[in-house]
Amino acid sequence: PKYQSVALIVGVTGIVGNSLAEILPLSDTPGGPWKVYGVARRPRPQWNADHPIEYIQCDVSDPDDTLIKLGEVKDVTHLFYVTWANRSTESENCEINGKMFKNVLDVVVKNSPSLQHVSLQTGRKHYLGPFELFGKVAHDPPFHEGLPRLDVPNFYYTQEDILFSTVEQNEKLTWSVHRPGTIFGFSPYSLMNIIGTLCVYATICKHEGVPFKFPGTKEAWERYSDCSDADLIAEQHIWAAVDPYAKNEAFNISNGDVFKWKHFWKVLAEQFEVEDGGFDEGAGKMSMVEMMKDKAGVWDEIVREKGLAVTKLDEVAVWWFVDVILGSECMLDTMNKSKEHGFLGFRNTKSSLISWIDKMKGYKIVP
Ligand code: NDP
Repeated sequence: PKYQSVALIVGVTGIVGNSLAEILPLSDTPGGPWKVYGVARRPRPQWNADHPIEYIQCDVSDPDDTLIKLGEVKDVTHLFYVTWANRSTESENCEINGKMFKNVLDVVVKNSPSLQHVSLQTGRKHYLGPFELFGKVAHDPPFHEGLPRLDVPNFYYTQEDILFSTVEQNEKLTWSVHRPGTIFGFSPYSLMNIIGTLCVYATICKHEGVPFKFPGTKEAWERYSDCSDADLIAEQHIWAAVDPYAKNEAFNISNGDVFKWKHFWKVLAEQFEVEDGGFDEGAGKMSMVEMMKDKAGVWDEIVREKGLAVTKLDEVAVWWFVDVILGSECMLDTMNKSKEHGFLGFRNTKSSLISWIDKMKGYKIVP
């Protein structure tokens, strides 16, 4: 056959979905040559359009739409599930995210007889607990995959249980679960994109002639942080899809180094030629949500003035996420299990940061 493997990426314009869509079709990608389908609700954006994939517009929270659009696809061998929905409580999150994942599995398992592997992306909240319980229930870091589940609702556990019961009923299926921390990547459509949001913040500061101030806490400013590069996560998904030693396991995924925001803040300020306002101990923590609530018009003006790709502020900036991530000390994970199973990938986080900023500029999301 022309293709050795056929991928279905659910969430193809997301922060990891877009990386998978770029990497899977490359000629030297393990398991290839890959044919690739990608799913998202909105029309295909210009920054995703160069990837050689078949784009399917579908809302997977709607079982009928899922059946109509994904029922036609009969040749999937590998499912990459990299999407989610964010509701106001974790019990609602469990309900909607369980439903979305199940809608996809029901249709793909039934219609693609060659399906071999399901790769589910969850995250470090597996060990931290849901956002609504941040700082209250977390395990003691560094987090490893052998830790028991926390005794609180978590949509990641709901998704895992759906995955396990699906695989139990289908002997040929294997699975993997991937648990990144804060992701550094490119997607103007992501529900959580910290670098994209900080680029937009720096751009607004520059435009208004005010210093670029760190909005977080002292702990986040000066203690160790880590993150997960979106391309590296995509590489781990692909490794687990292809390598027999990776089957039926959950893996942490982070870059393998640590950094401090006080060092990276300078890098961001330099990249946008804005005055580095640093961390103001006296001012304490600022709320980005509060600070930025009236900036939609300012953003439109910047987009016009600088000839940027047309975006809305609430698409490209996720202020609440910056408030959460920079609001407390980062809790680290360990990559030992992933390495012991044979995945030795890593990233230099400073290079990763600069490469994602360059990509934001390259697609004219920021000047
Ligand atoms: P993103 O928010 O970046 O992307 C979501 C993608 O799914 C988009 O392509 C979106 O496009 C699509 N999508 C959303 N809803 C639907 C729907 N109903 N039907 C079809 N497509 C849909 O995803 P992430 O990679 O961030 O999230 C995946 C997992 O990773 C989540 O569990 C998240 O908690 C976890 N994670 C994320 C981190 C981060 O920093 N982003 C950090 C750690 C874990 P469209 O809106 O057009 O439909």
